[in-house]
Amino acid sequence: MIDWTKALATAFAAITPMLPCLLAIFGAIFALVVPLPRRGPSFLQKQDSWRRFQGEPRRQIMARAGHRCEGAVFLGWGRCPEEATEVDHVYPSSRYGPTTLGNAQALCCGHNRRKGAMRPP
Ligand SMILES: [Zn+2]
Repeated sequence: MIDWTKALATAFAAITPMLPCLLAIFGAIFALVVPLPRRGPSFLQKQDSWRRFQGEPRRQIMARAGHRCEGAVFLGWGRCPEEATEVDHVYPSSRYGPTTLGNAQALCCGHNRRKGAMRPP
């Protein structure tokens, strides 16, 4: 016959010294399973259903950029002189970048094609 109270007390005494380590492990697992928005494993993230900048947001982004391309030329020392024709995500939508004004930039066609799904450094 097993004395359950004694068995539980023994198990608890064995686990007690490991509690800080166990809490750290469970904390790490929790942080991975419930990531901050835009961080953590990609299989837990969702793309915005609204991916395109249209209408008033697009007009605001173009006005903010002065209708000029915001792409950098020559290692970021200058700004592209072309007229902006496209509004694009700074952090790509395909990599779960949000479709917000803060994540938007006005680009010329060439800069947008070259950028593709590259993440900003
Ligand atoms: Zn450009």
